[in-house]
Amino acid sequence: MVLDDLGSSLRGTLDDLRGKSRISEDDVESVVTEIQRSLLAADVDVSLVMELSDSIETRALEEEPPAGTPARDFVLRIVYEELVDLIGESTELPLEEQTILLAGLQGSGKTTSAAKMAWWFSTKGLKPAVIQTDTFRPGAYDQAKQMTERAEVEFYGNPDAEDPVEIARNGLEETAHADVHIVDTAGRHALEDDLIAEIEEIEGVVEPDTSLLVLDAAIGQGAKDQAREFHDSIGIDGVVITKLDGTAKGGGALAAVDQTDSSIAFLGTGEEVDDIERFEPEGFISRLLGMGDLGQLAERVERAMEQTDIEEDDWDPEDMLQGNFTLNDMQKQLEAMNNMGPLSQVLDMIPGMGGGLKDQLPDDAMDVTEERMRTFQVIMDSMTDAEKEYPRAIGASQIERIARGSGTSEESVRELLQQYKMMEKTIKQFQGMGSEKEMQRMMQ
Ligand code: GDP
Repeated sequence: MVLDDLGSSLRGTLDDLRGKSRISEDDVESVVTEIQRSLLAADVDVSLVMELSDSIETRALEEEPPAGTPARDFVLRIVYEELVDLIGESTELPLEEQTILLAGLQGSGKTTSAAKMAWWFSTKGLKPAVIQTDTFRPGAYDQAKQMTERAEVEFYGNPDAEDPVEIARNGLEETAHADVHIVDTAGRHALEDDLIAEIEEIEGVVEPDTSLLVLDAAIGQGAKDQAREFHDSIGIDGVVITKLDGTAKGGGALAAVDQTDSSIAFLGTGEEVDDIERFEPEGFISRLLGMGDLGQLAERVERAMEQTDIEEDDWDPEDMLQGNFTLNDMQKQLEAMNNMGPLSQVLDMIPGMGGGLKDQLPDDAMDVTEERMRTFQVIMDSMTDAEKEYPRAIGASQIERIARGSGTSEESVRELLQQYKMMEKTIKQFQGMGSEKEMQRMMQ
């Protein structure tokens, strides 16, 4: 995740402030040094780092903390506000008819992002179409076609045509009935003049409402020049940062945002069509600072719910935080979690879980594969309701009966009970950790 390192190191530094009511110059200095170190390590541009750390330092020293505010919360709030200010609002993308042009270097993730974005718009009730104009990269057409099929969105491309401008024109005509047009373009290894001329021509035909620059999170300082070139030629309104699942850097993308005076639109977090998040600065930074991101969590839960066909009333993350946890709950939660993506990512979104606590959980608590879930399902079908409600009361003779009845082994039944205990323990750990209330308190 971008600036992940900042999150963990800053949390450590801020924790040193716990219990203090006043903040000294030394305290501010150590927080600022930590921020500078982490941002530079994440490839954030030096001048940006200086600007940010100066503002934090000045505010922390000059502003008077509201009465009764602990030093840690006060500094955390300043860091949060300044980071929100640096990263800015999310690129505006109204949920209505529009045309989006994607630009970027080859391999940055344009084609993948086009399909992912189309999928995202389709979940918002719009009818998107992806138009693939990349005639340069062999395989771009097939890749886009397959991904849009997986995303269940409309696709236009022409593997036999040679002129991308012509493809763009025809594509828009052929998909005129769609609400959102996402036009993918060819990338090259470097910024070549012919690429720029070509994309300018495509831009002229497409007349996009929004042009997005797609950047690999690992790009580093090179992002700045690239962003400037694209911005000068077609005007960049926002940035899509891809491959955030694979790097702890991503600071280069911030330089691109700064350079184009734009903002971040989407974050790509994997290779599948639904591995995309709309960028939300507040949630993103809360998560970064270990305050959790309930907004994202809610969206994931909602998405998982749709896939799992669980009634919304049946699964509420808030309930999970309340405890009162039975095997039936575990089963529903496992199903939903399985659809939400890796549990470790989900935990990052829960307030208070971002810190080291996650690392202390047993690995098995994170590892709920589909196969294990199927076995669990079979075992649970052989249990009585009372056993499911009070799994802790299940003894050796019941284990033997359940194993026999389900055609599994006693070991598998014990494994299920073990998993239950671990999840129950995890949930107990959530309780009393950062609650939504605590987050709100910090945000005031
Ligand atoms: P393009 O040349 O800009 O169109 O780039 P592609 O869309 O073909 O992406 C290049 C490679 O990056 C492909 O192998 C994609 O599967 C992969 N990729 C794209 N976005 C992501 C992402 O968010 N995470 C990961 N892990 N891989 C990605």
